[in-house]
Amino acid sequence: MVNFTHSISTKQFLMSGNKIQPPEYFIWETHGIHAGTGNDHVKHGVDELEKITEQAIAKGHPNISFIIHTPRLTRFRYAAEKRLDVKFIRGDNAYFNYPKKIEKLKEKYGNEISIKYGIELEWLGADLGLQWNRSKIFQAQNADFVIGSLHFSKEGIPYDGSQEEADQLIKLRGGVENYWLGYIEELIEMVDCSWEMIQIVGHLDLPKLFAPIPQALLELDTSDHILARRMRFLLEMISEYNLALDVNLAGINKGCGIYPHQSILQRAKQLDIPISLGTDTHSIQNLGNHFERGIKFAYEVGYKHYLSFSKTIPEKRPLRNSGFKEEKYKVMNLGIEMLNLRFEDRKQRRIPKFSFGGEFRTFLEHHKNATSLGDFEAIRIRKGNKSVTISNSVPENSSSKTSGLLSHHRDDPGVLSMIFNALASEEINVETAYLNTNNDGTATAFLTLSGDENAIKEAVEFVRGTGGDSFIEIRVGDNFDIPELQKGKNYLLEVDGVNLPIAISKQMILSIHNNSSGVLLILLSALASQNINIKDLKLGQRGNKGYAILGIEESSNSVSEVLKKLGPQFFETTHLQLGSEGV
Ligand SMILES: [Zn+2]
Ligand SMILES: [Zn+2]
Repeated sequence: MVNFTHSISTKQFLMSGNKIQPPEYFIWETHGIHAGTGNDHVKHGVDELEKITEQAIAKGHPNISFIIHTPRLTRFRYAAEKRLDVKFIRGDNAYFNYPKKIEKLKEKYGNEISIKYGIELEWLGADLGLQWNRSKIFQAQNADFVIGSLHFSKEGIPYDGSQEEADQLIKLRGGVENYWLGYIEELIEMVDCSWEMIQIVGHLDLPKLFAPIPQALLELDTSDHILARRMRFLLEMISEYNLALDVNLAGINKGCGIYPHQSILQRAKQLDIPISLGTDTHSIQNLGNHFERGIKFAYEVGYKHYLSFSKTIPEKRPLRNSGFKEEKYKVMNLGIEMLNLRFEDRKQRRIPKFSFGGEFRTFLEHHKNATSLGDFEAIRIRKGNKSVTISNSVPENSSSKTSGLLSHHRDDPGVLSMIFNALASEEINVETAYLNTNNDGTATAFLTLSGDENAIKEAVEFVRGTGGDSFIEIRVGDNFDIPELQKGKNYLLEVDGVNLPIAISKQMILSIHNNSSGVLLILLSALASQNINIKDLKLGQRGNKGYAILGIEESSNSVSEVLKKLGPQFFETTHLQLGSEGV
């Protein structure tokens, strides 16, 4: 049992000056608030997006998470909808315009609060329902997460509609046990068919809203009852597919308790299934209610973390704020984001493995299989054959003097590629690079090179002769100080174990390519052709692989297009568009 040392209440806002401090136990919600949508959509949630957002800001919440149901097939309707003859549950207009509404909301309030938006994907069966859902998911652009939820039985009767509807279905199925068994089987089918489309499974034991939860599910660890066996199988499946469980607080107000029941969550914990948290509220009055109860509930089962999602990528967050090292979590989530962007969609949700060093070692106790990096102040994150190591402290610079090429030039797209072009034409390889942007419209580059000394001189002469007024100074020498790294909030240290120290910025490109002279020039020329300016650059190599990491201008569009066209010499090119708080 865990005792909380602080009394916790979301009502206790700490005031400092005029600024509202966020409540101590605040949830970055996933299954958050269902807002009003519009009259062509299923009637669900009533409040305006703007009003809700303003209230969340007033309460000092760092985050607000909106959620919208996917439109349903007409066969799946609540009794109330049938009575009122609500036919517009197809709701295409409201549904498809939702992302635009959220975009506008972000423009208006994005500086004051982090706004997230997700979809509650309605399971409507494996036949037409599945095709329907695939089309809906395809059109739901830019969602931060998708929750797979089962509200309707195969028979078209809802589990969460009314007591009458539940009773009707229980009768139809011949008893409460079969009622539950049908539900669990449908959920198994849902996960099996939809796991690639969703990140989270919603309110796992929803039927307890109108029917008693069977003893077999309360004794999930020991029972040999068919219900226990199928529920255990379902949880194993959720674990295998790396989905998270929705710890959903809506059941508190409805009198059936948090979804899922403690016995189910305990089993989930044994299987290392991550959780997300949410109030699943439909009105502004309940905004943020029961946060502390939800956190306590998960903590008592043994969870130390929960997930929130950003563009379907999971972010780890601590359940307890006391001793919470916010900056350190930002470093970790930034690393997760960088690594995940290197994978295709469906592998992104898989939580990677960690190593922690220096002050980050306090994370070790919460991560079962994490290893220590000793005093090395960094977090190493790996998945399959890919890894990144990042830190919030500036990597050490060797202070020794070295030979190389120094260029002071105008900070324009294409200037850097002129240097690389001249060097490649003389078959000179660039080994390391340091770039610096000065605030007078110029930049400096220092490159260490391998190749014939005379050839290097030839190349430099060529740049001098053809570079026009782009170059203020360019020369080779053997007594240069190695320049300092550009400064940033956080630093990348290694990629796949290759040393690539660079300040992390919002837009970067990672390239892993055939390590021969001229290959990097392809990338630089491609970027120059699109007027994309390079602000920072680091190079590394191992075996036949060359590594390059580039910081590029924030306004750079068309990067992803360019990267697709580089050709077979490039093994991996990733556009790292980073949205984490740690950038
Ligand atoms: Zn739901
Ligand atoms: Zn919901």
